[in-house]
Amino acid sequence: MASKKAVVNLDRIITKHPDFPKPGILFRDINPVFRDADALKFIAGEFSRRFKSRFDAVAGIESRGFIVATAIGMKAEAGVIMIRKAGKLPGATVKKSYDIEYGSATMEIQNGAIKRGQKILVADDLIATGGTAVAAAQLIEELGGKVAGFGFVIELAGLKGADRLRDMGYKVESLVVYE
Ligand code: AMP
Repeated sequence: MASKKAVVNLDRIITKHPDFPKPGILFRDINPVFRDADALKFIAGEFSRRFKSRFDAVAGIESRGFIVATAIGMKAEAGVIMIRKAGKLPGATVKKSYDIEYGSATMEIQNGAIKRGQKILVADDLIATGGTAVAAAQLIEELGGKVAGFGFVIELAGLKGADRLRDMGYKVESLVVYE
């Protein structure tokens, strides 16, 4: 059970894995954060507060973003939308391909997932180069939604993805920033 403690030091909980999933990548693992009820509650509270009254629904990016988005959605009483890897969603979808820190990928969203003008907060565990986040924004906007902002538990500032989003005019909130 989560206690009532207000602030959680996420940096102490996040673990580092050198050379995963490829040589040269320092993987920041959020799994220990998800296993910690106080940390999960803290994340939900922080993003709900920082984006208060700015969003109607939360979009989570597969797969760790689903957990962040659901925690926020429960706290803020907002619905959750899945932005998935290609080939997993039934029915009509829109797709976007993009580059990530260690490869490339395609993301997809269901056509009816977003209402015209609906304000969507995008949530993920981590922002690196920003390729995934930009693709998510494009999918949301293609369906007529408005991006309310981005919430990342971890920002890898050296890779400039969050700056790229800020330069595009989006509000970006990160809870832990690493160089
Ligand atoms: P990017 O599109 O480069 O911003 O990459 C972001 C996505 O890739 C997120 O969904 C992360 O989960 C994952 N990712 C990229 N780099 C790392 C890293 N160093 N550690 C953990 N996850 C990463």
